[in-house]
Amino acid sequence: MRDLSLRSPEYRHIQPGRVLVVAGEARRGSRGTVKPLTFAKGASRDGSGVRKPVVRLNGKRMLYCITLRPLFFRSSRPSQRVETLLHELFHVSPGFDGTLDPMRRHARLGDTFRRRFRPALRRYTEEHLYTATVELVTRKRHRVPRIRGGLPVH
Ligand SMILES: [Zn+2]
Repeated sequence: MRDLSLRSPEYRHIQPGRVLVVAGEARRGSRGTVKPLTFAKGASRDGSGVRKPVVRLNGKRMLYCITLRPLFFRSSRPSQRVETLLHELFHVSPGFDGTLDPMRRHARLGDTFRRRFRPALRRYTEEHLYTATVELVTRKRHRVPRIRGGLPVH
């Protein structure tokens, strides 16, 4: 993910150290989901008093949580893993403020999501698939503690 934010213009706003990646159940049979961990401007509570949990890892506030479905992840090719990760990161707001980009919601874009995401994915995979794959494969699982019963993969 570090490689991604350094080299890919579409992902330059991503701060890898503030994205928590865990394995767990993803919604509606999808391969992964991304959850914003704050409301606008980093607030942990919105106007109606709804709270979001403040998740810290080694003292650092996490702004996003990406959940990857372990069964899919283990049985998929490295390129599919990269695609899933890039897909979820594509939802992150350009300001990287702990919220998702409302303009990139599937509900809003429908098939256009695919058309917008494809070029970013293609650019990245053509140039950097090898590095990204190596990074994903060689990451040591035990570096991140278990969170809510999920098995860390990042
Ligand atoms: Zn999506």
